[in-house]
Amino acid sequence: MRVLLCCTVLLCALGLPAQGETVSSIPRPRPGSWSVDTTGTMSSSTLAGVNQWGQEVDDKGLGQLAVAVVNTTGGRNPRTFATELFNQWGIGHAGRDDGALLFIALKDRKAEIILGNGVDGPSDLGRSDALMSGEIVPAFKRGDPAGAVLAGARGLAGLLESSPLNAPSGATSVAQQAPQAQAFYDPTPFRARSPPEYYRQSTDWTDVSPWFFGSGAGGLVIGVAGLRRWLRRRPRICEGCRQPRQRLDEDTDDDHLDAGQRREENLGSVDYDVWWCDSCQDAQVERYGAWLTSYSTCPSCDYKTKSESSTTLVSATYDHGGKVRVTVTCKHCHYRNEFTRSTPKLTRPSPSSSSGSRSSGSSFGGGRSSGGGSSGSW
Ligand SMILES: [Zn+2]
Ligand SMILES: [Zn+2]
Repeated sequence: MRVLLCCTVLLCALGLPAQGETVSSIPRPRPGSWSVDTTGTMSSSTLAGVNQWGQEVDDKGLGQLAVAVVNTTGGRNPRTFATELFNQWGIGHAGRDDGALLFIALKDRKAEIILGNGVDGPSDLGRSDALMSGEIVPAFKRGDPAGAVLAGARGLAGLLESSPLNAPSGATSVAQQAPQAQAFYDPTPFRARSPPEYYRQSTDWTDVSPWFFGSGAGGLVIGVAGLRRWLRRRPRICEGCRQPRQRLDEDTDDDHLDAGQRREENLGSVDYDVWWCDSCQDAQVERYGAWLTSYSTCPSCDYKTKSESSTTLVSATYDHGGKVRVTVTCKHCHYRNEFTRSTPKLTRPSPSSSSGSRSSGSSFGGGRSSGGGSSGSW
């Protein structure tokens, strides 16, 4: 009897951690929200960042994106799991099927991008692959889940906005010519951290789209991004000798940066441009902070190299809140801080939303997916 009891306890203990979320146990984002984190490890500012991208793209009527962060799928194929979740939530608008989901199973170390049936053409898939392998997976590999989530949401917003589904007829040819016109401003080729083909893909939605697709406030924001990059790359004249300065590439500019600045560049929290004048042997260093990064300014060394990581001590459930241990470290100096944070308990889906109607209780419009998209693990 006693042996039996021991075995039962042991089985339970072994069984519990392996037990994952089920598709229907994941609460659907409430209206106006585009993210769900059942692990309680994402900071509210990270989720707010995701919601901002979600709201922006939805307001423009170009599609709908969602981010779901869970611990584990409990051994189920993450892609199947995420596709079911997509269809249960009904991300995107019915008919247009313009939804995109970033699904993350943290403990399984798996990420999935699931695209709706209207936005899963070859160019959409290329962009989705580049986002997964060029941004999301690398961010997880360097221990920056918040950065991965933010880059994912931003990338999905870009994917939806630039999808052929949203391209006005005739705009394609113009959009293809525009990047060449841009090269005029920059005699030295721009070096992006990510693979060059992804950079080329990303140009057309950060810079080109505002002039052709942009309207309203969203277009203005993207237009500002284009202007900002133009200002950044315009030629510089040396004040000393009135000769044009030369922009150093990422390898040679390191000589003119200090250790903290180089660390910022490695982490992607700040990008530095060094404009060199050969006749005066003078370097002009310009600092460009990343718009969305999980790194913030370290109170000790003042570089943008402080990062937060968190581990779940108690998972939040429908009945009680959870507890998370947050560790703050600086990737440059020895600054370190640790504290615990309470997370709110999960909200039960309202009875109407669990009864099978896809779009009630959330902002989603009943979009469908056949499972197109990209997978990643780290
Ligand atoms: Zn000079
Ligand atoms: Zn520091």
